[in-house]
Amino acid sequence: MNYIVLDLEWNQSADGKICSNNRIPFEIIQIGAVKLDENFNEICQFDRYVRPAVYLKLHKKVEELLNVTIEELSEIGYDFCEVAHDFLEWCGDDYIFCTWGQTDLTELQRNLDYYKIDYNFPMPFLFYDLQKLYSLCFQDGKSRITLKHAIEALGMDELWGYHSAGSDARYTAQILKQLDFERVKGFYSVDTHVIPQNKKQEIYLDFGNYQKYVSRGFPDREAAASDREVRACRCFKCGKPMKRLIKWFSTNNKSNYGLFLCQEHGMIKGRFRIKSTDDGIYYAVRIFKFTDEDGAKKIKQRQQKEKEHRRMMRKKESQL
Ligand SMILES: [Zn+2]
Repeated sequence: MNYIVLDLEWNQSADGKICSNNRIPFEIIQIGAVKLDENFNEICQFDRYVRPAVYLKLHKKVEELLNVTIEELSEIGYDFCEVAHDFLEWCGDDYIFCTWGQTDLTELQRNLDYYKIDYNFPMPFLFYDLQKLYSLCFQDGKSRITLKHAIEALGMDELWGYHSAGSDARYTAQILKQLDFERVKGFYSVDTHVIPQNKKQEIYLDFGNYQKYVSRGFPDREAAASDREVRACRCFKCGKPMKRLIKWFSTNNKSNYGLFLCQEHGMIKGRFRIKSTDDGIYYAVRIFKFTDEDGAKKIKQRQQKEKEHRRMMRKKESQL
């Protein structure tokens, strides 16, 4: 299997959100990628500019960052459809995408959707977020730093400028080679631009001490939040029902929390959020994670805070 290290540059409405096209808020203007074999040896590179067709003015930030003008882009760029077809063909059929951060694949699919270009990325659509893997290898696992900072921190040569898809992809590929990949290769990310179409396709990823679940779609937020599987309390290790120490409760920041106990595996905390797709379909993303007394205490405090908040709201309402 090959690794395709991908980086995109995109433009957005220069005249604010009001002139933004919802179906393509970020128009791709450059696709850069490096293909590596399973031993991380470079096979080839892809670097193409796209001729802008949706936003015909560059957003100020984009112009500053990219050092390219709209006239230059129109001259050196190709139609998106042509670049996208070439790129998908160039990818081959046995690969996994690696990106710096989590947004590139979603925007790639939005652009492909906009032009009605077929793609059949695998389901679930797993990829490696190298910003996350970098953090797992060299930081605390939670921090996220810029590509430039990572290159500097690793003391690597800065051979090219930044914010060009081709050079950023090359930098990202260099970082990939520096990771203790054996140690972090289990930490996939999953892109949810296309969500599971049915119960059978629902995603369960086991990362050792936690599990991520992505549900199928629902017509509204309530239907998603009340679904049996979304609210299920089975241990993600043995599948047995867990005792509810704290039943699922929702908070005003729209997260839902719970605390559970498996006879065999101990205390597990749960959290789920309802998200929506570009098409207005609702789905849940849930995490079950092993926890200890400290973690349990935090959830109890959260529940207490929520109860107090509700009491205050009721009081306010009754005073109106
Ligand atoms: Zn268990």
